[in-house]
Amino acid sequence: MDTEKSGKDFIRANIDEDNASGRFDGAVHTRFPPEPNGFLHLGHAKSIVLNFGVAKEYGGLCNLRFDDTNPEKEDSSYVDAIREDVKWLGGKWDDREYYASDYFDKLYEYAEELIRRGKAYVDDLSADEIREYRGTLTEPGRNSPWRDRSVEENLDLFRRMKAGEFPDGSRVLRAKIDMASPNLVMRDPTLYRIRNAKHHRTGEQWHIYPMYDYAHCLSDSIEGITHSLCTLEFVNNRELYDWILDALGVYHPRQIEFARLNLAHTILSKRKLIQLVREGHVKGWDDPRMPTLSGLRRRGAPPEAIREFVNRVGVARADSTVDYGMLEYCIREKLNETSPRAMAVLDPVRVVIENYPEDKIEEFDMPYHPEKPEFGSRIVPFARELYIERDDFRLNPPPKFHRLSPGSEVRLRYAYIIKCRDVVLDDDGNVVEIRCEYDPDSRGGKTSDGRKVKGTIHWTAAKTAKKAEVRLYDKLFLTADPNDVPEGQDFTANLNPRSLETREAWIEPALAKAKPGDVFQFERLGYFRADEDSAENKPVFNRAVTLRDTWAKLESANRDRKAG
Ligand code: ATP
Ligand code: MG
Repeated sequence: MDTEKSGKDFIRANIDEDNASGRFDGAVHTRFPPEPNGFLHLGHAKSIVLNFGVAKEYGGLCNLRFDDTNPEKEDSSYVDAIREDVKWLGGKWDDREYYASDYFDKLYEYAEELIRRGKAYVDDLSADEIREYRGTLTEPGRNSPWRDRSVEENLDLFRRMKAGEFPDGSRVLRAKIDMASPNLVMRDPTLYRIRNAKHHRTGEQWHIYPMYDYAHCLSDSIEGITHSLCTLEFVNNRELYDWILDALGVYHPRQIEFARLNLAHTILSKRKLIQLVREGHVKGWDDPRMPTLSGLRRRGAPPEAIREFVNRVGVARADSTVDYGMLEYCIREKLNETSPRAMAVLDPVRVVIENYPEDKIEEFDMPYHPEKPEFGSRIVPFARELYIERDDFRLNPPPKFHRLSPGSEVRLRYAYIIKCRDVVLDDDGNVVEIRCEYDPDSRGGKTSDGRKVKGTIHWTAAKTAKKAEVRLYDKLFLTADPNDVPEGQDFTANLNPRSLETREAWIEPALAKAKPGDVFQFERLGYFRADEDSAENKPVFNRAVTLRDTWAKLESANRDRKAG
């Protein structure tokens, strides 16, 4: 269901219901609970926008909680990156930055309490044996031979686990629930495991670590979370969360599950994104091809566009996959509003204007935005030799080609109208130079005799243009579902070998002054963000998105017509 003017999505409807019944005294307190084992991606954006958004709408609060129960995989550098990304996306948590590891003492006390209540036991079975005893969806499990240990023995063993007396994996603490439950999660799940590992916050203090399920529901309870919003795969875990909270008689949040965000041609799994980074398929977590928030930021996507995208997708109860074009649409819409325009030629071919004086340079004062005078203007020099896009010239133009071809006229954006007189080709028939003449009475692009010139192309003067590296990004995966691979291969088999194309471009002088983070519309080409890799004399621009390209459509229509 979409968030529409008329109806609310089911999460907000549930919150309204609770507010009406007074279940949480009208309070709304959510949390965003990342595990600091990787960078945040678009899927997390959905959760961030939802949790922080719902809290704000209802005048409530949203905590940032690091679910750091997995010492081997977590790292404080991830914590820093996550903080930055949540802030960038607009999440505000004030001083409510919490860590599951802050609760390790409390969680331990709760575990002893469960033992004292006869609801947890220390099990000596190995991990393999536990799996074997668990049974299957169609067969019930079997009780562990250690299930009926006395409270005293359990307490003693659990304390010794904590004291570091036992090696990794030799024992676990399990909840004593029901080995025949139809819900596999309820078949005496593990609550604590032995890990003699260093934790990024608690150091070597602990030898046992709580399992995610145990720590998660109790962290929500400890923080007084009212609505615990999570993805659908936790539906079955809800029964366990309820059991744990009931067994301890502590405060219960309400859990509401929603569908994960899936994006075509994209991987949204930290485990797999780590693999792309480690195996060098991309240049780090913030590579602009990555679906990470840091990658999108570097590519030039504004946070407003990501929020808009996530809101448009809405929250649903059933899984679906969103088209990548929708994300690009949102990015384009936002950048269209906010980006100054400028000219860059990415695939240059030389134009010589034969009737324009050799050494003359004219300066055109061009607005940064045709409809927004507040964007100001810049000076663009014009001279006898120019660069235009190779693709804006055709020796044999298709029908309705309004750009340059032998004998035809075209308008140079904000400058003059030129007519193609002659073409210089190399031995292979490639265009090396286009010889033109300009109409001196067409300054600003208007004809004095009322004749029509349909096309307008962008350009840059050869003498004053600056070099730039321009990185054109395409989809990282060739297939809509990157996980769809033949036996024996993994998702990297579907990587797009041409996901990055680097161009040596000629840009107008004003663009050379761009600072990392500045985004421009390169006229007729798309939106480009100045990258952190930019150097003094060599700016680097990343393409965020292309413009809607009517030419591509027209030409493919032409091709189709010819083929048909
Ligand atoms: P991943 O599969 O990428 O490792 P995760 O769920 O393990 O994701 P967490 O750090 O545990 O990553 O996630 C933090 C929060 O973000 C959780 O509440 C989780 O439900 C949510 N989240 C993660 N991926 C998505 C997604 N694709 N769509 C919506 N929410 C997501
Ligand atoms: Mg997770």
